[in-house]
Amino acid sequence: MNNRKLQYFLDCMTRYGSDKRCPFCGSSRTVVIDSKAVFARLFECSDCHLYFRHPKDSKEASWIFCQNDYEETDITRNIPAGAQLEEFKKSSFLNSGKDYSDRIQIIKLLCHQDTPIKVVDYGCSWGYASYQFLKVGFSVQSFEISKPMVERGNSLLGLDIKNDVDLLLPDNDVFFSAHVIEHVTDLVEFFQIAKKLLKKGGLMITYCPNGSDDFRSRKPEDFHSIWGMVHPNYLNVDFFKYVFKDVPYLITSSPYKNLDVFGGWNKFDQVVADTSGDELLAVGIIE
Ligand SMILES: [Zn+2]
Repeated sequence: MNNRKLQYFLDCMTRYGSDKRCPFCGSSRTVVIDSKAVFARLFECSDCHLYFRHPKDSKEASWIFCQNDYEETDITRNIPAGAQLEEFKKSSFLNSGKDYSDRIQIIKLLCHQDTPIKVVDYGCSWGYASYQFLKVGFSVQSFEISKPMVERGNSLLGLDIKNDVDLLLPDNDVFFSAHVIEHVTDLVEFFQIAKKLLKKGGLMITYCPNGSDDFRSRKPEDFHSIWGMVHPNYLNVDFFKYVFKDVPYLITSSPYKNLDVFGGWNKFDQVVADTSGDELLAVGIIE
């Protein structure tokens, strides 16, 4: 057990009896649905259906965590250099594990507009998605909380990633985040930022690990392993249905083979397609 994991274990032990209210809606109606590492538990809020890890993070702890590397093996943390980086830039990150051409196609199908799509890439890491968005003609603003990642992205990819959310301009078509929401300490603020930056009728597009029942039934061991130290939130279809209850939404999961789901959505209805895949995709229209 490394130092960080030991610290996490001790924190779970000492704060076992700490506040169990839902970090999103504040409800005290919460129930345990899974547990691990003796003292860590996954709660479900009976009101908004958020799954959250207990004990919860403080905002400060989460911020410090974001400034430091944690264990990931893909190019999010192992940033390529030299000829490898040049090859990825030329091929739009083909075979890098971060080829976003599928996500770009989905954005185009959802927006269906002739003018350049204005996208906020929120929690963009070192900018591999922003780079690909720019290459297909999107107008892009990028934000990342980790200063080292901002500096790497701006120097390696020639981007203008902001480290201050207040520097982002409003009136965007898309608020895009991929594998960010499961790390966020203040979910209320996360949705407020999206609303502030989107135009009326803009799309909030959120990709994250899938905590939905259909996925848990299909891969119970994966469900158990995904939430925890680095993932304080575990999102599911019922949570997004709650968040977007008053607006049109489309919720589905990977592998997104049936693109008619996106192209055929009329943007008025509340649609739930298959939610058994490994990754959850929630699209809500902000009004
Ligand atoms: Zn709640």
